[in-house]
Amino acid sequence: MARFVDSHCHLQHEAFNRDRQDVLSRALDQLAWLVVVGDDAGASLSVAAMAAEPSTAGRVFAIVGIHPHNASKADDDQMGTVRRLLGEPGVVALGEIGLDYHYEYSPRAVQRDVLRSQLEMAVEVHAPVVFHCREAEDDFIGLVEPVARSLKAGIMHCFGGDAAFARGCLDWGFYISFAGNVTFPKAKVLQESAAVVPLDRLLIETDSPFLAPQPVRGQRCEPVYVLHTARYLASLRNIELDKLAEITSENAGRAFSIPDPPHVPA
Ligand SMILES: [Zn+2]
Ligand SMILES: [Zn+2]
Repeated sequence: MARFVDSHCHLQHEAFNRDRQDVLSRALDQLAWLVVVGDDAGASLSVAAMAAEPSTAGRVFAIVGIHPHNASKADDDQMGTVRRLLGEPGVVALGEIGLDYHYEYSPRAVQRDVLRSQLEMAVEVHAPVVFHCREAEDDFIGLVEPVARSLKAGIMHCFGGDAAFARGCLDWGFYISFAGNVTFPKAKVLQESAAVVPLDRLLIETDSPFLAPQPVRGQRCEPVYVLHTARYLASLRNIELDKLAEITSENAGRAFSIPDPPHVPA
């Protein structure tokens, strides 16, 4: 039995402060490997340190960057930290970067500026990019389209768009990653998107501690819950669970340019 990868979780989040090591051991018991994601310079330092931890090195990787929610905080200092961390071992991508007009925690114009600067950084350092886009598709396309094909790789994390937007991202050569919200009974549009993504561009994630899938919806999400989302997608795509694990784990290794991704025996 192949094992799944959680390609996006926020293990540095305060929701895990009381039992982070237990959550991580459960994850490493069940999954092949996982990717922890920072959302500002401080969190990026934490996730890079997790990826550098010798006892779990090679099974925990990090993504560093400034989330659109935190765009207002993105000064030269923060950007410099992200750029420096991108050269650290175990740091596999820039992210999550993008636009979030749903919450709009940072002003839209600032979000666009910070996305632009981080896209320039991604091209300069040739890093794969993990994108967050919520209710901002038009502006997102306007900013990302011109550089999309020059990126080493693009990953649409926690995909929330319709099938047409998915096709547009696929045309750029991007991967599409689904989180627990694809399992919600009312997520029909999202499920239509999940049905059209070619299997070799499909990724699975938890976005822990957010968006726990059915049937653990409403609880704090953790990486092992990726198996619920995986079961759902396997049935939607009419494919064996084992095969889906093999394909999506291989995709994740390719997307993040991990030369020899760990194949942990079940
Ligand atoms: Zn996100
Ligand atoms: Zn996230």
